[in-house]
This record gives sequence, structure tokens and C-alpha cells, in this order.
Amino acid sequence: MTFNDLGLNKLLLKAIQEQGYTKPTPIQAQAIPVILQRKDILAGAQTGTGKTAGFTLPMLELLLRAKHQTSKHQVKALILTPTRELALQVEENIAAYARHTSYKSAVIFGGVKINPQIVALRKGIDIVVATPGRLLDHISQKTINLSHVDFLILDEADRMLDMGFVNDIKKVIAVLPKDRQTLLFSATYSDAIKKLSTQFLKSPTLIEVARTNASSETIKQAIYHVDKTRKRELLTHLIKEGDWQQVLVFTRTKHGANRLCGQLETDGITSAAIHGNKSQNARVKALADFKAGNIRVLVATDIAARGIDIDQLPHVVNYELPNVSEDYVHRIGRTGRAGNKGEAISLVCVDEDEFLAGIEKLIKKDIPKVWLKDFKPDPSIKAEPINMGGNRGARNKPRGGGSRGNGGNRNSSGGRNSGGGRGRR
Ligand code: AMP
Repeated sequence: MTFNDLGLNKLLLKAIQEQGYTKPTPIQAQAIPVILQRKDILAGAQTGTGKTAGFTLPMLELLLRAKHQTSKHQVKALILTPTRELALQVEENIAAYARHTSYKSAVIFGGVKINPQIVALRKGIDIVVATPGRLLDHISQKTINLSHVDFLILDEADRMLDMGFVNDIKKVIAVLPKDRQTLLFSATYSDAIKKLSTQFLKSPTLIEVARTNASSETIKQAIYHVDKTRKRELLTHLIKEGDWQQVLVFTRTKHGANRLCGQLETDGITSAAIHGNKSQNARVKALADFKAGNIRVLVATDIAARGIDIDQLPHVVNYELPNVSEDYVHRIGRTGRAGNKGEAISLVCVDEDEFLAGIEKLIKKDIPKVWLKDFKPDPSIKAEPINMGGNRGARNKPRGGGSRGNGGNRNSSGGRNSGGGRGRR
């Protein structure tokens, strides 16, 4: 099956092509035709399956088909997510798929100023991606009008319930039109999810697909245990010994990305860093140089790397493990795409054992461990709390969670898109 077979508008097909997607993933192939028939769905799909495009593309298609009725910018679709990171990521995807349409999207979450969000909403937004807590603030302040919502999407619904959002979700749903289409995505089918779906979905079609990327046969994963102070030396060793020509390296912080980039240059390895503090131009140039093979290493933070799509990227290195386990899946999913072979290596020091445990729990498998003779960790070094850098609170938990609506105390380098209405990009 191709995207053309799904009957999508050419404006969407163009955006899909620009994303480099050649064929729908299993969740997309199953969900898109059902959503296009205006049916509710209950989908068992985790991050990494392509679920975001699975609900966004048919939603945009239906909005385009109804355009003659509702051309004004008013909220027509609402996507609820458990964390600000997911909200940002989903909105980035929506903006990319909607880039040739006139629809504007915005992201709304707590922990940042509410006023820019109010201003953006006042200007007119078609698609809102929100965490429940802040959305309720807008509802109670009457700064958002949800009376024209045709689509409600509950993304990672199980996680929202785990985080105690059930009452918030119910309060949001209470102000939405009854005559709407509801799509619920959840990694698990707990009794609580079943209850939620019987309450709010109309005879939903059940769709379930297996995770495609973390357990993908095409990505060879390995953990290299090493002391923190020797990671740079090990990375240089691996790149030179393996004669790696194109490596995407992830760091947790912007500062860490810059520092590593400078160190690699000192070691004679051409590199560039991309992160939120770099200008758009600098990011575009770095990516173009990397794709063209002018530089061997691109050092990136999670948020900066989100839009990166590189065909046949052979090596991904986690210089530091992410503190949010799902980010691991996103990071390694940059390699081994479309049946190509890829290698994802993580350099792990004793401080990161808890992150590693969280990741292995999420992907439900043990990642093979490697101890190189010349880089054996010093057993006398004890674990220390991890400095998240920047304005992120020091957290040493593998999973997010906690306070309502904004993903605990995580103050991601995001917020940058917060409330920013966007049309064409
Ligand atoms: P998601 O599960 O929505 O977080 O998507 C996981 C990753 O798959 C994202 O990086 C998407 O850009 C990518 N993706 C989504 N659909 C496709 C597709 N049809 N072909 C290739 N990659 C895709």
C-alpha cells in the first residue's frame, strides 16, 4: 500500500514526500482508512510506530474536505498528551504535515507563561495540542473556545491516566461538542482505558500494531560501559577504529553538545552541533553539511534532532542516555530505517544506570553490554546525580511524571514553541 492509495489530498502527499516517507507504517495503513470513514478508534500503538501521522493525516484530510464549511481559524481539533515533550513533538509533526495547508497549530502546556498562549489563541488556531492541566486553566479563564471541535485525540492515554489526569480529561471532554470524532491511542489496554473508551468513544474500531522501531531487527543496539571522563576518548576511538563516516551523536544538554563538538574537532574529527540555542540558519547548514558528508559527526540534543530525517544513517551514538526513556526509542529510530542496517551505541557511565533500567523496561529487552579492555570502568567511582544543565531541574528518574499538565518538573528547552501559533513553515 502507498500513501496515494489512501486517497489523501495532494497538499498532504507533498508534505509526506518531503518527510521522506515512502509507504505507510502498519498503524497508518490500518488507522487512516477507518478515521477517514469518520469512525472512532481505540488504537494500541506505542511511540515509534508512526501513530502521530496515523491520526494527523486523516484528520487534516477530513478538515480539508470540510474546508468550505469551516475556513475560519477556530479550534477544530484537540490533541491531549501527558507531557510537554510529547505535546511539542506532536505539534512539530502536525506543523510539518500541514505545512502546505492554511491550518495553524499551537501547543499549550503549563510551566510557561500563559499570556503568549492567550495571544496566539486569540489570533486563531485550528489545531491545539495540549496537556490537560493548562488547557483547563484556559477553559476556566475562557481564553479558549472549544465549541467547534470536530476531533478529539487522546494520545498516550494510558500514561495520562497513570499521571492522574483522568478527572482533568473528563472536565475537558465535558466542554466539547458531543458530535465529534474521538481517537484514543494507548500502549496498553488496562481496565481504566476500557472504561474511558466506553464512556467517551462511539462504537470504536479496535486497531493494534506492534512496536516497529525499538525492537526492529535492523537496528543493532549495544551498551558500552565507560567512565564519564573517558567517554570522549572512547567515542573518538570508535569513530576512528570503525572508520565511521556519518555519526549522529546525542547529548543531554546544549552546553554538552557544544563542548563535545569542540573536543572532536581537537581530535581531528569534523563535527557540528545543533540545538535550541543555534539559529535556524546554523541548524540548516549543519544538517546540510552532515547530509552531504562534509562533516562526520553531528552532535544534537533531543529537541533539536526531532525533525532530522537522514536516509541510511548508519550510526547513532548516545553519548549520554536520555532521562526520558521514550527519547531513547526516538533517538535510535533515526538509524535502521526503511530496512537499512543501523547501529545504535550508548556510552553509559555509572550515574546513568537508572536511566538504562528505565529504557530496558520500556523496550522490554536487555540491550547487549560491552566492556572494552582499554576502557573498563573504574569500580571505585560511585554514581552521582546527573546535572541536566540549563534550566532543567536535576532529575535522576528514568520516566517523566508528576505534577499536573506539564510533565513534572521537566522544564524542557521547549517552551520555545509554547503558545506560538504557526501556519505555514
Ligand atoms: P511516532 O510513533 O508518531 O512518534 O513516529 C515515529 C517516527 O516515525 C517519527 O520520527 C516519524 O517521523 C517517523 N515516521 C512516521 N511515519 C513514517 C513513515 N510512513 N515512514 C517512515 N517514517 C515515518
